[in-house]
Amino acid sequence: MGGSCAGKEDIMEKRIDGRTALYALFGTPVGHSGSPAMYNFCFQHDGINAAYMAFDVNVDDMEQVMKAVKLFNVRGGNFTMPVKNIASQLCDEITPAARLVGACNVFVNKDGRICGDVTDGKGFIKNLQVNGVDVKGKKLVVLGSGGAATAVQVSLALEGVSELAIFCRNDEFYPRAEGTAKKLATECPDVKVSVTRLDESAKLKEAVDGCDILVNATSVGMKPMDDMTLIDPAWLRKDLIVADTVYNPEKTKMILDAEAAGCKAAIGGKGMLLWQGALNYEFYTGRPMPVEEYQKYQAEQAAK
Ligand code: NAD
Repeated sequence: MGGSCAGKEDIMEKRIDGRTALYALFGTPVGHSGSPAMYNFCFQHDGINAAYMAFDVNVDDMEQVMKAVKLFNVRGGNFTMPVKNIASQLCDEITPAARLVGACNVFVNKDGRICGDVTDGKGFIKNLQVNGVDVKGKKLVVLGSGGAATAVQVSLALEGVSELAIFCRNDEFYPRAEGTAKKLATECPDVKVSVTRLDESAKLKEAVDGCDILVNATSVGMKPMDDMTLIDPAWLRKDLIVADTVYNPEKTKMILDAEAAGCKAAIGGKGMLLWQGALNYEFYTGRPMPVEEYQKYQAEQAAK
């Protein structure tokens, strides 16, 4: 290189060449997303000649996005809000979980066919597994009926829980819980599913008393509602497992209450985020994500 460019080769991206495969995140906003940093680290670690970029697109752009994915041979990637629902309708193939949830957050391009899945619920279950909790045959209470709750409920039913008691506020999300229960009655007839309003406190207490695992999948507990919990701490007992989807703060009030009550396990939502990310990587590269190495890298970056 000439004198005026001296030193530039040090900062130029060395991995990208004419054969570099593109992976991408679609949605809006995407500027804050941690996905490009995570997946580019993993590609580099695994010696995969690929790069992951984020594209700010909205629902109306999605037909063009799907055409562009095929035209540019984007090998795989992710859909985030608000395009997860429309993406599930535009994929060429989707998994049963994505069909039942009506949303798709990950895709892989198989020779021009776009195949989608939803991994939020699977990530939640994997996070319980790595914390020593198996959901099969268990009775669960799940609070909420928004995006996260629906994905968690569908995955739990597909995983073979015995009972799923859904409690949700009587708001615009309530009909979605009823829709989920209806779909699961057909698709997972062995799972006993019920939907109850959250303000029916006596029924909620009775359900918590009789369940193995209690899950918060509402936004209660997340900042700025971080001083709130939907569960009376007096209902928490030693043989109960408590899990949250909320990861900000890492320990919600409900998780802190569960720890204070000596519950068998109190599992926050941060691991769900990590594991759904890892499942995405596996979905589109066909190999396990280097999770430990990425966590080590993250810790090193945070310490700088
Ligand atoms: P959403 O907006 O789709 O749904 C929100 C849900 O919370 C609805 O069921 C709503 O009825 C309920 N809710 C809100 N305020 C309430 C209140 N005051 N009382 C009772 N219920 C209330 O949101 P979402 O995308 O499903 O996200 C829910 C939570 O899950 C958020 O905190 C989000 O950060 C978290 N989440 C975590 C992960 C992860 O990987 N850990 C993934 C997705 C979402």
